[in-house]
Amino acid sequence: MPLRNMLKLVLASTLLAAPLPALAWGHEGHEVIATIARGYLTPAARAKVDAMLATDTDTLTGPDMIARSTWADAWRSAGHRETASWHFVDVELDHPDLASACFSFPPQAQPPSAGPAQDCVVDKVDAFAAELADAATPAPERLLALKYLLHFVGDLHQPLHAADNHDRGGNCVTLSLDGGGTMNLHAWWDTIAVQELGPDTATLAATLAARITPADRQRWEQGTTRDWALESFGVARAVAYQAGSAPGCGTGVMPVTLPPGYDAAAQAAAAVQIERAGVRLALVLNRALDGTGLASPSTAQNTSSVGGATAKHRSKRRHHRVTQRGGVQ
Ligand SMILES: [Zn+2]
Repeated sequence: MPLRNMLKLVLASTLLAAPLPALAWGHEGHEVIATIARGYLTPAARAKVDAMLATDTDTLTGPDMIARSTWADAWRSAGHRETASWHFVDVELDHPDLASACFSFPPQAQPPSAGPAQDCVVDKVDAFAAELADAATPAPERLLALKYLLHFVGDLHQPLHAADNHDRGGNCVTLSLDGGGTMNLHAWWDTIAVQELGPDTATLAATLAARITPADRQRWEQGTTRDWALESFGVARAVAYQAGSAPGCGTGVMPVTLPPGYDAAAQAAAAVQIERAGVRLALVLNRALDGTGLASPSTAQNTSSVGGATAKHRSKRRHHRVTQRGGVQ
């Protein structure tokens, strides 16, 4: 549906209904990933995750595994800017070099939750996975490692957290939206590219989990954190940066209008990236917390196709979700 029509629905819904709770899309994307991952945890790993989280008195988010997937963003916002660089790895489009995007892979502080500030999501996923796997890690640090992992594996799969066009991962690119208003490209991927996929977190997680075949899972469980980052970079280059924006963070640049077909390609890519992130978050947690490794899906269902259902949810989501985004920035 064109955004113009969506905005009409916003107005209609605003008049007819009480406002829906404001969900930052970034939050919802992470919660969907954690929900998918939870379905792939072994019973032993799931029990350990829950037991660790049950010891946590932090109130920045809810206490359960799904809510804790957004904790690292809340922590950064609560005055911990020293963790800001850990959420991404800005691989440059014109010079794709993972090492330079990751500050030359610096040694970890001890413990890794203490730094260094100049480090990237790839290093932090590996460092926190190693801490989580080590039963000798002091309990408070091991809990932090778990909470960071619940978030950072997701961030790694947001294409604009793994790519840069000298534009702060698309934050400097202003999009002119169909119905009026503007939004930056990075925020568009954090929110709109995923919001339109399903009507709510639980339904979207079930829909995407149901599309994951055993062959997908087997394929996605291969590779290293670095490979996953470069794959995410590839999605940014092939899809996200097809917006037609110029490199850089200049002022006075005209807003970009997304080309025809961009929205559909972005949604398809976002869906697969969320599915991959869910599978890999489970893999990381199973490896660290249950040496037996791989689980058979429990809440996740492996079915070959849910295309019809997906399309239906998609159109429902468009009606529903846009009501929460009335003032498109
Ligand atoms: Zn983040």
